[in-house]
Amino acid sequence: MNQTIKKADNYFLKTYNRYPIVLESGEGVYLVDDAGKKYLDFAAGIGVFALGYQNKKYNEALKTQIDQLIHTSNLFYNKPSAEAAEKFIQVSGMEKVFFTNSGTEAIEGALKIARKFYFNKTGSPAGEIIAMDHSFHGRSMGALAVTGQPKYQEAFGPMMPNIKFAQFNNLASVKEQINEKTCAILMETVQGEGGLYPTTAEFLSGVKKLCEEYDLLLMLDEIQCGMGRVGEMFAYQAYGVIPDVVTSAKALGCGIPVGAFAARGKAAAVLEPGDHGTTYGFNPLAGAAVEVVLDIYEQTALLNHVKVVSSYLEAKLDELVRDYPGVKERRGMGLMQALELDRPVADVIAKAQELGLIIITAGPNVLRFLPPLVIEKKQIDEMIGILKVCLD
Ligand SMILES: *Cc1c(COP(=O)(O)O)cnc(C)c1O
Repeated sequence: MNQTIKKADNYFLKTYNRYPIVLESGEGVYLVDDAGKKYLDFAAGIGVFALGYQNKKYNEALKTQIDQLIHTSNLFYNKPSAEAAEKFIQVSGMEKVFFTNSGTEAIEGALKIARKFYFNKTGSPAGEIIAMDHSFHGRSMGALAVTGQPKYQEAFGPMMPNIKFAQFNNLASVKEQINEKTCAILMETVQGEGGLYPTTAEFLSGVKKLCEEYDLLLMLDEIQCGMGRVGEMFAYQAYGVIPDVVTSAKALGCGIPVGAFAARGKAAAVLEPGDHGTTYGFNPLAGAAVEVVLDIYEQTALLNHVKVVSSYLEAKLDELVRDYPGVKERRGMGLMQALELDRPVADVIAKAQELGLIIITAGPNVLRFLPPLVIEKKQIDEMIGILKVCLD
């Protein structure tokens, strides 16, 4: 047996069922394993590596920063993080941002804004947050409490109180959960792990209206669907709706662990000195990563590229729905796409790996496609060719 797999399985807590592949290097949209086998990557490290592997400009910026200064703590200032913050604010339409080490921590920050927003208004800390069924927001106790999938929560109760769940894309069900204690509504603009469901325009604008009517914070989790994944920097920009709070991570650092929660208007002034903190969070290395990522997006007009190739990917996936009776439906937005099959997809994924293609799931019957954003049409064709063999 492969020694790396053996060691990892011996020593890691068994929280993952990993695929039996040891990845060693990457080039563009391809990964290479320790036996030299090449894989076309349609997962991008779960939507992280947007720029592809070995982007020269990205790598150089990180190397330069490593040789200069990696960490300072947030008791001091550093230039890369200030530059990156300015750029993030410009592209998100938010006013203030706090950078974290992960998506989960970004959610924690958003939850703290919501609770304190209610506290400032009423003098009580017990504000209720409405989250959605089938959502995914992370694995820490706060993020888990707003994740609408009982299978993740079951063994770890009791959950943080004063969380209500509504049905995604069902405005009446959200309205039903609102009472005088409600302070915020949290949802993914496009649900990822929960099966890949984009919000409908009516639902998102309806939720926004409810938030305005009842003085609630609209908090959008863009950890997976943000950072250009759907052809706009953030998915809410495709709907013309601006939230009060947004969370980001995954492609934000393109491999350097970094997340963010950002706020505008009444939500931007809620947290004050002493209310939140992080030791690692947004050290100069993470700052340099976000800065260069946003620079590359702009200089390469990456959002335009995503718009073009994603409509091509949609068309190709729609052909599979048309031609294969076992492929029931395509869902998704931009380069965040899914195919639902009439059976579990584990065999398809294993066969794809054998043929040199990496795809992942979003539920037992759902194939999820999250390629690097730099993917080209010819590589989409290559993926479709392999997928057809797997489906056959
Ligand atoms: C991945 C993800 C998270 C959690 O982010 P981590 O970086 O794994 O902590 C939260 N929300 C959504 C929508 C995600 O896709």
